[in-house]
Amino acid sequence: MNHIKAAVLWPGTDRLSIETLELENPREGEVLVKIVASGICHSDMVLRDASITTRPVVLGHEGAGIIEQVGPGVSGFKPGDRVAMSYANCGDCPSCQSEKPAYCFNFVGLNFTGRRPDGSTSLSKDGKTIGSHICGQSAFASHAICPQGGIVKVDDSVPLELVAPFGCGFQTGAGAVLNALKVPKNSSVMVLGAGAVGLSAVMAAAYIAGATTVIAVDRHQSRLDRALTVGATHAVQGASANFVVEVGEICPLGVDYVFDTTAYLPLVEQCIPLLGIQGSLCLVAAYPLDAKLSFPVSAFTTGGRTIRGTMGGDSDIQRFIPRLLDYHRQGLFPVEKLVRYYDFDEINLAIDDSERGETIKAVVRMPT
Ligand SMILES: [Zn+2]
Ligand SMILES: [Zn+2]
Repeated sequence: MNHIKAAVLWPGTDRLSIETLELENPREGEVLVKIVASGICHSDMVLRDASITTRPVVLGHEGAGIIEQVGPGVSGFKPGDRVAMSYANCGDCPSCQSEKPAYCFNFVGLNFTGRRPDGSTSLSKDGKTIGSHICGQSAFASHAICPQGGIVKVDDSVPLELVAPFGCGFQTGAGAVLNALKVPKNSSVMVLGAGAVGLSAVMAAAYIAGATTVIAVDRHQSRLDRALTVGATHAVQGASANFVVEVGEICPLGVDYVFDTTAYLPLVEQCIPLLGIQGSLCLVAAYPLDAKLSFPVSAFTTGGRTIRGTMGGDSDIQRFIPRLLDYHRQGLFPVEKLVRYYDFDEINLAIDDSERGETIKAVVRMPT
């Protein structure tokens, strides 16, 4: 049993409360990680507001840190290893067996309920159970217990405080471009939303895939300005009445690939007629369960267009996170331009700044 600091979400409030909790020792197949930093992702707010996640709970799913202890049956990891933390997967289902752990058949139960499959948690306070294991980590804490399938070793060439958001936001945006749609060279790409996921997609399209036209769309001018510094060739106001005309002038034959990271469906519907022949729309955001799109079906038959979704950028974390870190080292994925750091005790401010759109990627640093 260990005493740790964690930001707890209690029932009846949206504010996180930093408290001392008890953390179990790792069980079979788990490791105990001392967390160095944890990114804040929009999905944390979705889980905060979702009924599937039982409170009290510790959120946070973009952790990075150093292994302190390994449980029984763990192979390939040892104390002292530097790791990026990402979502849990069962390792056994058809998706996991075919290197698509983002589509694990047991994904929801393993990642969103705040419980292990046997119903237990690793966290408690004065005997009261606190939800853990959110996305295989619950990383708004000084320490976390993680299943070994959700962590990946990283070398020391990138600081862990920058590694943290690779576990969700950065790999989701880049993976949508590189894994899900496999954007080819010289294509045209439009990314809706210039937040962390959207700008990761912009960088991947412009610098890694070699797209020649990369249009960023957002309501906030500051985010559009940022997009132009990370590879976007054009920036268009999504709220403008001229939106469709402006995009049509940039791509008279239509856009090859459109990625939605906003979950703002009226904007997505405006983009469907802007898709070129054999163009593709990729849905990347966290959509409300009852969200529906309305569009002319014939556009998808006559023009051979496609529409598809992606979870976590189709990433196989064991391969994709090291690959992205390598792109970062080569200067092709300059995510440091998106990050603002906060101390752990400023976590509510970091969430507020993220929700207001003032910070693109907030990362909280744990006290040393
Ligand atoms: Zn996330
Ligand atoms: Zn699985």
